[in-house]
Amino acid sequence: MILRCFLASLVSLALAAQERPLILKAARLLDVRTGKVASPAQLWIKDGRIQPGAPPAGAETLDLGDRTLLPGLIDCHTHLLIPAGLGELGYLKRSQGALILDGVVNARKVLEAGFTTVRDVGASAGFGDGALRDAIAHGDIPGPRMLVAGPALSITGGHGDLNGFPPHLHTGDEHIVDSPDQARHAVREWRKRGVDLIKVHATGGVLSNHDDPGAPSFSALEFKAIVEEANRRGMDVCAHAHGDAGILEATLAGVRSIEHGSLLSPTTAKEMKARGTFLVPTLYALESIVLPGNPYKVPEGSLAKARAILPLRRAGFKAALEAGVPIAYGTDIGVFEHGQVAADFRFLVSYGMTPLQAIQSATLVAADLLRLGSELGTLEPGRWADLIAVDGDPLKDITTLERVRFVLKNGKVVRQTL
Ligand SMILES: [Zn+2]
Repeated sequence: MILRCFLASLVSLALAAQERPLILKAARLLDVRTGKVASPAQLWIKDGRIQPGAPPAGAETLDLGDRTLLPGLIDCHTHLLIPAGLGELGYLKRSQGALILDGVVNARKVLEAGFTTVRDVGASAGFGDGALRDAIAHGDIPGPRMLVAGPALSITGGHGDLNGFPPHLHTGDEHIVDSPDQARHAVREWRKRGVDLIKVHATGGVLSNHDDPGAPSFSALEFKAIVEEANRRGMDVCAHAHGDAGILEATLAGVRSIEHGSLLSPTTAKEMKARGTFLVPTLYALESIVLPGNPYKVPEGSLAKARAILPLRRAGFKAALEAGVPIAYGTDIGVFEHGQVAADFRFLVSYGMTPLQAIQSATLVAADLLRLGSELGTLEPGRWADLIAVDGDPLKDITTLERVRFVLKNGKVVRQTL
């Protein structure tokens, strides 16, 4: 399923085709499929892609020295247009223009941290997420390749609604869906406005008022209408879900991924595995909410919800890991500072993944979730030339991924601090 924005970015890639081939050398290259390290490492790149065979004479050579090469990283759950630390529903206090400018700043931070592709899922400032995606694809501003969802769909009183405020204050009803007909209309409207996928809130959430993260939301008929209509338009659906009942309903409805999945049970995990449903765990986001000193100014009601869920998260993550659910890297940045987009690697490992599994989640598995496995996620010939270089061995010290020294996207150097 090739999406429209990627056709656009392919065109821009062709326009940006390199005149001269580039040879990249480094001490090591991690094969993310096998975990084997090749040493020394050499790749060559032309027209934004990794090329097979030997490089031609006269190619430019860049030697990255004592570094390890890995594929460009992928975050499957970002909010580039939401600045961290604005406090309770703080994005409502910023104009759409300000949020889009926030997105420009955050896109650069995320790219420079080694994330060359993101899936941005919700709160889009009037579909400004698509405008940001297109400006990056056209090479007008630096940032990761983006897939965007536009505003997430929610039930009345759900995680995406504005609860606990006087009735004259509302965010606009366009993202509120309370029937199968409204669901079909919203999906068609979102497609018309250029989104790549649909995001739904299948349960209540943490950073919202008067809703329960454990409680499910859409009816089975509403869910069926959303997923069926999205699939008919060539789009996947991802579902925010904390409580197990909502995770199961979303899984049975056929969503592509469960976001957060905090209270996942072993039984539901087996259902996800059987259906090929991905989990995007966003582990650090919840941890960041309860940091000492409350740096992100989270209101008391949300702090209480986070404290209640946090002790149960390890069991949910373990259930997914043991059932063999494909787990794709996702952070929920916007909840915390965008420059810390690599923070989840540490938590994936401390929650039970091997370092190689954590790296695979942000490369191979994430590319698979995005249905871009033939273009991204490994450093094999034919793939887009997105790669990073880090010091040392990330299999021995996963935190080296938080200090990326070199970033190449579409065959072009976007960061170099060697
Ligand atoms: Zn989120």
